[in-house]
Amino acid sequence: MLTQTQIIKINNRMNYTKCLIIGSGPAGYTAAIYAARADMKPILYEGMQQGGQLTITTEVENFPGYPNGISGPEMMNEIREQVLRFEVDIREGEIIEVDFSKRPFTCKSDDNSVIKAETVIIATGASARSLGLESEKEYFGYGVSMCATCDGFFYKNKTVAVIGGGDTAAEDAIYLANLCKKVYLVHRRDQLRSSKELQKRVFNTQNIEMVWNHVPIEILGEGGKFDKMVTRLRLENTVYMEEKILEVDGIFVAIGHHPNTDVFKGQIELDKEGYIITRAGSSHTNISGVFAAGDVRDPNYKQAITAAAGGCIAAIDAERFLASVN
Ligand code: NAP
Repeated sequence: MLTQTQIIKINNRMNYTKCLIIGSGPAGYTAAIYAARADMKPILYEGMQQGGQLTITTEVENFPGYPNGISGPEMMNEIREQVLRFEVDIREGEIIEVDFSKRPFTCKSDDNSVIKAETVIIATGASARSLGLESEKEYFGYGVSMCATCDGFFYKNKTVAVIGGGDTAAEDAIYLANLCKKVYLVHRRDQLRSSKELQKRVFNTQNIEMVWNHVPIEILGEGGKFDKMVTRLRLENTVYMEEKILEVDGIFVAIGHHPNTDVFKGQIELDKEGYIITRAGSSHTNISGVFAAGDVRDPNYKQAITAAAGGCIAAIDAERFLASVN
């Protein structure tokens, strides 16, 4: 329930913009910095997870400019602070409905604001699929990770399990095998879904052990609230229903991602996985004036730095688009 002050504030808002940015990960915030510096006076909706996926990562060591690393939430706070230096109308809440049939585009937020936007930059990201276990939530960031390239380093010479059988799981297992003493690749069937080439590499890597026909049923660990760590993974055989325990220090869940594009379905061209399709080498979607940046259009790289670069590209594309139509 909104307070009277909040209602007055919402009613007094300017709801027309040259550039509406949807999303607040590295792509959305970077787009905001560039769009504001181009005098587009952007409005940015932060979405349900202010700061995006990085706010659920522990340490970020691969973003240039932080020689000693930085925690994901801290980094996103700093980027947000940087955005606030410029003329950006940052708003809490989500865009829940869009109409891209004509410009200015009409977008409705969850507080019932109706925004008219000359251009829209979609930077809503993707969400990693989770196993749905209570213990997975409990140990998230304390031994459970969704990102091998972000967190693998912390498991140097340790034993980890990767869950999944697709390209991501296979790639993660190969990546981690270079760092870790041992990698279990746990898959629910007896055949990997990943490409044959990746399968060959997995099977030829000595310290990867396949655990076929098993699914995780519980993650076990020890320690207190803030120093807990994973020690074991309880699995169930999908054929015989028998249980087994793996001794592990870390667990990487790699059972796929889903792009956050539900609200754009039917409005914009998506690929079969739901990612927004952009014109090669740019952020242009099939709708003139609508651009996409970051993980919402990227099933391959999924890095903070590539998302930030995408945000920059989208803002420049939006600025050039407006210059060309005005
Ligand atoms: P994916 O292809 O959807 O694979 C997900 C894997 O997780 C599948 O093996 C699936 O098992 C398993 N899985 C799903 N839900 C599960 C659950 N609840 N419990 C246990 N296992 C579960 O996802 P992805 O590997 O992230 O790949 C996504 C897309 O990106 C694919 O098109 C892939 O080709 C592409 N990609 C490409 C590269 C590359 O080319 N280098 C790298 C990464 C990703 P089943 O097999 O039994 O369904």
